[in-house]
Amino acid sequence: MYPGIGLETPPLSESLPEVELPASYDYAGIYLMQRCHLTCEYCITEHNDSRFLTSPTGGDRLSVDQWVAGLDRLRLTDGIPITLQGGEPFLYKGILDLVDRIRHPVDILTALPPSVTVERFRAMRRPEALRRDAPYPNIRVSYHPGQNRIEDLISRVLEIQEVVSIGIYIVDHPNNAAERDRARRLCEEAGVFFKTKEFLGYHDGVSYGEYRYPDATVGRVTRPEVWCRNTVLIVHPTGTIFHCHSDLYHRRGDLAVGHILDRNLSIPNRYRSCQSYGLCSECDVKVKTNHHQVYGYTSADIQFEETKERSC
Ligand code: SF4
Repeated sequence: MYPGIGLETPPLSESLPEVELPASYDYAGIYLMQRCHLTCEYCITEHNDSRFLTSPTGGDRLSVDQWVAGLDRLRLTDGIPITLQGGEPFLYKGILDLVDRIRHPVDILTALPPSVTVERFRAMRRPEALRRDAPYPNIRVSYHPGQNRIEDLISRVLEIQEVVSIGIYIVDHPNNAAERDRARRLCEEAGVFFKTKEFLGYHDGVSYGEYRYPDATVGRVTRPEVWCRNTVLIVHPTGTIFHCHSDLYHRRGDLAVGHILDRNLSIPNRYRSCQSYGLCSECDVKVKTNHHQVYGYTSADIQFEETKERSC
């Protein structure tokens, strides 16, 4: 065990048994990198002083071979892709080799660092994994005003969209309103998909976002114990699986669910005692659309009375 990080990497075995995600699971987020080339002050991975992007990874990142073995053993609920994210997932050099080799459909959340060129997508063996028939682009590029340039992103996305499905998103931060409107106009004129993403978190003392449990994200523990069931798969760059985004960003290794390469892995679908309520990540308690695009889903189901009888 790496203190404060996660679980030791099991040796790679060629015959890992299949692991079925519970039917209630809605998302599979694979954090390829705990690093980013940008430093946005509102980054959701850094809320509550988690230092996710600046702390040691705490173990070796999985190789492409290890990721292929770990991800291909997963049986995902129909319609759920593997989402590669981070940090910045394109800082993981083997990312497109990984997409080529796994059997799952893939989405990528990125800020499109300069090393990502159309030639890299043209060299793929399985680019169709990134151009599925979906109600949103498979590669979702974040534009962060002051950190990257919309004109640069548009010209690069115009090239890349000839090969794969890609679009630009902007976080609807209160300080971004004028730039949001300018970016939308430039994208529409150029023929590039553009959409806003809700800003989640606090700005000038005001909480932004709609949450199932209003005091879950206040930034301090507000209840000594709650019981929580989550319906997302969250995997750290070392292969350690966490129960929720708060556990991942704060690297609560003692609470890890398991390791993606563990022969005996099973994905839980039960309530777990938690002493960190109030430090929840907005990602887990936000009201949003599920993978069927139906609004009203929240991934964490939190009970304030013990629910052992509902464990399964
Ligand atoms: S209550 Fe919040 S911090 Fe605790 S396990 Fe659930 S989502 Fe994570």
